[in-house]
Amino acid sequence: MARDSRPHSRVHRLPSFDTATCFCWVKRDDELGFGISGSKVRKYHSLLPFLLRERFEHIVVLGGINSNNALGLAQILTENRLPFTLYLRGDLARALQGNGKLTVLIAQGKIRWLSGAEWKLAASIAREERKEKRVFVIPEGASCPQAREGALTLAADILKNEEQLKVQFSHIFVDAGTGFTANTLIEGVAEKTVHVINLAKSQAIMQRENVKIYRPRSAPSFGATNRVVWNEVARLAKEEGILLDPVYTAKLFYETRCIIKEQKIEGDALVIHSGGALSLLGFSSFLDSKISSVEKPLL
Ligand SMILES: *Cc1c(COP(=O)(O)O)cnc(C)c1O
Repeated sequence: MARDSRPHSRVHRLPSFDTATCFCWVKRDDELGFGISGSKVRKYHSLLPFLLRERFEHIVVLGGINSNNALGLAQILTENRLPFTLYLRGDLARALQGNGKLTVLIAQGKIRWLSGAEWKLAASIAREERKEKRVFVIPEGASCPQAREGALTLAADILKNEEQLKVQFSHIFVDAGTGFTANTLIEGVAEKTVHVINLAKSQAIMQRENVKIYRPRSAPSFGATNRVVWNEVARLAKEEGILLDPVYTAKLFYETRCIIKEQKIEGDALVIHSGGALSLLGFSSFLDSKISSVEKPLL
């Protein structure tokens, strides 16, 4: 029998999130990749074989300058020698930071910059500029039908964790950018309550009984951070030894902790850590503010 090549991540206890009625766990999809966030590793699991099979003359990737997806695809498209251009929304007057720096490091010379005004037309601009070729355009977040099968491995993998741990998770907490990952999860675990923290105001998240959608109560704008976000990064680092990213998972974990208490959630609850911690690279001064001066080496 062929070895199961579907992405698999472990689940372990998250004791600092427990309440009198709720036992908490975390799924470590962040461990699926160092340079590529977990939710993207899953999407690429079916998207990449499609791209390799179809042998497009050119691949266009749409995304923001600090997008985890643009950074992830730059890596796997380069590795697989597939011809591509990143069409990135970014303000060139501003210095590159974090993910943006890493993306440029990988894809220098393969980036077409788009202004905010051009961005709405990005897909048609790309098709127009590349009309001589057989082009495949990957939308923001790689949220395209070819990524679906890969994204669906999350639900199946949770059922596998349940079997291994002999636990039934009655509540699952997940973050959403485009909402693609959350929607495939909702499809795959029909009988569980799924709490979706909608970080980028996606309209696409499935409304259903057993699905609850929230906007972050703190720093709600996508990519915005504040003291609450950095406190959560520091808290999980110290109490659980888990690194969170400020854009997605710090807000997810903070909301999860509040919701578990406020709604007096009962039973076993699972938080999906989707990864993305590489973006911490762009925030080193915020991290400095979380490290007390006594613990800094004296130079
Ligand atoms: C891309 C990403 C998401 C959002 O995934 P969607 O399928 O677009 O909702 C969440 N968390 C991390 C860390 C990501 O990289």
